[in-house]
Amino acid sequence: MKINIAIDGPSGAGKSTIADRLAVILGYVHLDTGAMYRCTALKAMQENIPLNDEDAVCRMLAETDIQMTPEGGICLDGSDVTDEIRGNSISMAASDVSKLKRVREDLVRRQQFMAESKGFIMDGRDIGTVVLKDAEAKIFLTAISSARAERRWLQNMKKGITDKSKEEIQIEIEQRDKQDTNRKNSPLKKADDAIEIDSSYMSIDEVVNAIMNIVKPLISSGDGK
Ligand code: C5P
Repeated sequence: MKINIAIDGPSGAGKSTIADRLAVILGYVHLDTGAMYRCTALKAMQENIPLNDEDAVCRMLAETDIQMTPEGGICLDGSDVTDEIRGNSISMAASDVSKLKRVREDLVRRQQFMAESKGFIMDGRDIGTVVLKDAEAKIFLTAISSARAERRWLQNMKKGITDKSKEEIQIEIEQRDKQDTNRKNSPLKKADDAIEIDSSYMSIDEVVNAIMNIVKPLISSGDGK
């Protein structure tokens, strides 16, 4: 029997990488909700819409199609933006539009609609607290900011992106965490019934195994409750 798994946590904690791995192991669908906020920010910037203009961003979003491809790519109004939305400037812009209440309402509705059936691993900031409040498994994945910056920097190196030092990346990550944690609407926070995993000194395999140990009994018992 399939369940839904919510993974929340701060930027760069490895949520997407871990969710991808779990999706392959379990045969589940990974829904990266951050990508939807990133698409919203990208399109608003392309259309010169101020990121704090809630009415205009919402009007734009109502006319916007965001699709996840089966291969894990992201299509914005039919164009593949998988790599474009990962740019550094988009990260903070996504955090800016994610403060807007009605933007969140629109995207949360889409996320809930997509995950109506079970078998989803959704990662984000408000999955356990808002989007999938009744998810059978809730994980809050954290890591100290220096470890998160180091991972981002290594990822960048592999992609040949060398414009930012590790220290600059750490400052950006901390700024975004602060903004995501302190916003009024659906701030980043651990759900009361989430299990926290600090991945600072863990490998990807160790985190995947830790989560598998949590979800396996839930999957075999149907819902574990
Ligand atoms: O996870 P990712 O870094 O791609 O998310 C980009 C931004 O989108 C986050 O910094 C956060 O502000 C916002 N976000 C959110 N709620 C989610 C997912 C992402 O507010 N469920």
